[in-house]
Amino acid sequence: MPKKVPHRLYLTEDQMPKQWYNLRADMKELPEPLLNPATLKPVKLEELYPVFCEELAKQEMDNTTRYFDIPEEIQDFYKMYRPSPLIRAYNLEKALDTPAKIYYKFEGNNTSGSHKLNSAIAQVYYAKKQGLKGLTTETGAGQWGTALAEACSYYKLPLTVYMVKVSYEQKPFRKTVMQTFGAEIIPSPSNTTNVGRMILEKDPNTGGSLGCAISEAIEKAVSTEGYRYVLGSVLNQVLLHQSIIGLESKIAMEMLDEYPDVVIGSAGGGSNLGGLIAPFMQDKLLGKANPRIVAVEPASCPSFTRGKYAYDFCDTGKVTPLAKMYTLGCSFIPSANHAGGLRYHGMAPILSKLYHDGYMEAVSVEQTKVFEAAVFFAKQETILPAPESAHAIRVAIDEALKCKESGEAKTILFGLTGTGYFDMTAYGSYLNGTMTDYIPTDEDLQKGFDQLPQIPEE
Ligand SMILES: *Cc1c(COP(=O)(O)O)cnc(C)c1O
Repeated sequence: MPKKVPHRLYLTEDQMPKQWYNLRADMKELPEPLLNPATLKPVKLEELYPVFCEELAKQEMDNTTRYFDIPEEIQDFYKMYRPSPLIRAYNLEKALDTPAKIYYKFEGNNTSGSHKLNSAIAQVYYAKKQGLKGLTTETGAGQWGTALAEACSYYKLPLTVYMVKVSYEQKPFRKTVMQTFGAEIIPSPSNTTNVGRMILEKDPNTGGSLGCAISEAIEKAVSTEGYRYVLGSVLNQVLLHQSIIGLESKIAMEMLDEYPDVVIGSAGGGSNLGGLIAPFMQDKLLGKANPRIVAVEPASCPSFTRGKYAYDFCDTGKVTPLAKMYTLGCSFIPSANHAGGLRYHGMAPILSKLYHDGYMEAVSVEQTKVFEAAVFFAKQETILPAPESAHAIRVAIDEALKCKESGEAKTILFGLTGTGYFDMTAYGSYLNGTMTDYIPTDEDLQKGFDQLPQIPEE
């Protein structure tokens, strides 16, 4: 029987989106505003200028502009590694013996091995345009740091990356990749900042956390003339840039005469998910279609499924504005055996609001189940997925198996955010049977909730 749909569909350069889509413009109710932690008043645009570059601060605060032109230079950069393919997972479908049609959007075709370059290049472009002298950031697993190092090297802008110490030690090659692109890498917590020194004093042996690395990167940025801090997830501006993933997917699916019944994505800070779902969520908000939207998170870092919808700091050092989001508390650090990324304590305010208002679902999965799905997927589709991406694979497989039971031929779309070549230690521990699961107890989580900032009710 001839196959109607090709295995891989690439848009032509002409078909690529020329604008990013801002979901906030179509939300019935907007996410709560960022608050200044000192005054507890909504943050004003100018207050963001010392931290973010101006154009990005504007994108951050803009709730009404529906489409933003992608500057031509960024479009040209995108063309070096985009469009990313929309892939029909024929082999996976066959192996699962499911009537479901499974599609995935593969974002791993660049050196960062992830979707993160989509926002990194945009952020560096605006920084360069503003005449900044350098950037700082944090990285956990290393994909964001790598993406930013690639972008900074392209625009010849110095970059300092605070890398969570456990990752620095477990993934020395990641560090070398970033150094290849000219970035300076500092394991966090470090003694180069006040907040780093404070954390080290309390716990000299800590392996660090994303929140702590963020605090260090911000401190370094605000104390170095001409420097700014950039963040690879969570923020509105990042979800805006990542909308390229969903926009491309939607065009490709339209060319195939397809529309997803369910869209699935892994959720760390929410950027790939927010990007992938953007145009589909738009349809949902405008009443044009009603796909299910599913966020998948680790059972060991369950911000959506067990977190509180509350104002919290975006970082451990409590120097960022307060964001209303699903959070485990900014001091939350997943247990040491957690390998699979997605370890941020909070979730993008846009997605938090949509989830709170019932527009999307969330599930949490245990890491051994995630790696089981990763290995199974690799064998069928020949791509070795990042553990983060495998969260979405896990739930896509589970949905396809439900279709097998019910006999429904649903169309499933999931985000395959990247590749897992630097996660071989984790793969190894799964393969040799030493990987364990740890689900935090309610008491574990309560410690984080107890420290949430107290915001007086209006
Ligand atoms: C960073 C990352 C994620 C999770 O981050 P989000 O901001 O939630 O998208 C998922 N997959 C890969 C490969 C990543 O690098």
